[in-house]
Amino acid sequence: SAALDRAESLIRTIADYPEPGILFRDITPLLADAAALRAVIEALIEPFSGQFDVVAGIEARGFLLAGAVATVAEVGLVPIRKAGKLPRPAASVSFTLEYAQATIEAHDDIEPGTRVLLVDDVLATGGTLVAAHELFEVLDGHVIGTAVLMELTTLGGRERVGDVHAVFTA
Ligand code: 5GP
Repeated sequence: SAALDRAESLIRTIADYPEPGILFRDITPLLADAAALRAVIEALIEPFSGQFDVVAGIEARGFLLAGAVATVAEVGLVPIRKAGKLPRPAASVSFTLEYAQATIEAHDDIEPGTRVLLVDDVLATGGTLVAAHELFEVLDGHVIGTAVLMELTTLGGRERVGDVHAVFTA
């Protein structure tokens, strides 16, 4: 659609951030545009309509999308946070990023079998989303789908995560 084309044009590519040699996709111009934001939220959830009870957003940019998804889809929201941010983490998964280790955590505020849609802004190597899937295995949540705004196809994330719905690819 024209709205999605416009939204895609609002993702800014920044060279050498946060490290030399990295091409960083900056979604903040898209977030700042009402029509573009609305269009991408609807496109993110479109394949999963009626199939999920909560949306899980990954800190920090995933939160920005998950909040809007929750309101539009009329479901609750579970934050997946970096280590040490939650008062009562029930599950914790560590994984390797390109240059470092990371840990994500979640509370257990969902009933077993709750249908979860995982949301993040960018799929790169897939390490973050694989860890998020493991987190919900520990919590007995049922991840019914994974949606990202942008998939960076050359980094092989889809091979690790499995089926991912990407609104845009680069
Ligand atoms: P992965 O674990 O797939 O390698 O990296 C994905 C995570 O890193 C996501 O949580 C995402 O927010 C962040 N990320 C990696 N590359 C980019 C990028 O180019 N732009 C943005 N906005 N986030 C990125």
